[in-house]
Amino acid sequence: MEQLCRNFLWGHQSGTRKLHLISWDTITQPLASGGLGVRRLRELNEAFLAKLCWGLLSDREALWSQVLIHKYEMAGASRLKFKATHQASWLWHAICDVWEKVVGGIGWSIGSGQQVKFWTDLWTASASPLLELASEEVPEEARNRCVDYYADRDRGWIWEYFQHILPMSSLLHIAAIPTPSDDRGADLPIWRLTSNGNFSIKSAYGLLTRDCTQEEKDIWRVVWKWKGPERVKTFLWLLSHGKLLTNEVRLRRNLAPSASCPLCQDHTESILHAIRDCPKVREMWKSLVPRTAWEQFFSHFGSMAEQHHETKEELRVWSGVCFSGSNGRMWKNISWLPPSNGWIALNTDGASKGNPGVAGAGGVIRDTKGRWLDGFVQNIGVATSFVAELWAIKGPTYPD
Ligand SMILES: [Zn+2]
Repeated sequence: MEQLCRNFLWGHQSGTRKLHLISWDTITQPLASGGLGVRRLRELNEAFLAKLCWGLLSDREALWSQVLIHKYEMAGASRLKFKATHQASWLWHAICDVWEKVVGGIGWSIGSGQQVKFWTDLWTASASPLLELASEEVPEEARNRCVDYYADRDRGWIWEYFQHILPMSSLLHIAAIPTPSDDRGADLPIWRLTSNGNFSIKSAYGLLTRDCTQEEKDIWRVVWKWKGPERVKTFLWLLSHGKLLTNEVRLRRNLAPSASCPLCQDHTESILHAIRDCPKVREMWKSLVPRTAWEQFFSHFGSMAEQHHETKEELRVWSGVCFSGSNGRMWKNISWLPPSNGWIALNTDGASKGNPGVAGAGGVIRDTKGRWLDGFVQNIGVATSFVAELWAIKGPTYPD
């Protein structure tokens, strides 16, 4: 089936073969990673299975969950351990295989703290369980302790139990989480790969396939966010992969009699020659690019003369420079309005230095004349800016 997709993409007709300029591996990467976001069927199937895994965890009361849980005797077992027996159905085998791969996407939101394992589950903003971050071996008998063991209703987190073996970053992550308490209900599983904590096939698919660096993503964003016809975006995409079918490439593939540029006949038609350095093309650029920017524009990664084989990286940088538009920010005037008579106003804000980063929250209470009545500030630990805002709304927490 994937063969059919490939052929369609490159415009095959029966009896003809077209060049596949870009590998299937690359095409099946997300747009942000330089691909076309075409899904790989095997991984897509696994992502759908992951949805079943998630359902077993988050919707345990549903009839189908209950059937599977009791059939495979999971009722008493840890909620995060699925195991296939020999007689199990193919569906159960498939679920258990996928489970291993998606378990890293599951985290917990702490309520009572009675179901989540302090050392082995993912419940802080850290990417790995605390057990792996500890500087010393955690005693065997402590590993199964739940989060509520490490907090006290009145005193908050009991730091002396764990602060000597965890790095500062983890302690700050813990500080950002409200301490467990019975009246906050059960601990809830959250899907860590979406901002709202709900499972999505798309994010599971992302987890199952390779992801690229942020730096690369920024480059591809420039290409796909470019405002203009799809045809041009596709051209930019091929260009950024260094895969335009220039005469230089065609000669190498025995598709053209010579490598020279059809416009000027003087030079080899490499990619950079075709889009920038050919004298005919240059004239056009000069009418578009401001004179003051010519030098930078035409000298990026050297002149054409000594550079026949520009690398992908260089092309991406250049197209990034040329095609990035404004980032859409705009100015807006805002001001504070005092509350009407008889009312007081509470303004709060939370912020983090980096996202996530060291975070704080605070608020001021003012009267109708704008006079300061009271205020609070609070250190939070390390949290996302969103969490910091929530702490600010929650208001000060004083040990009593
Ligand atoms: Zn030329």
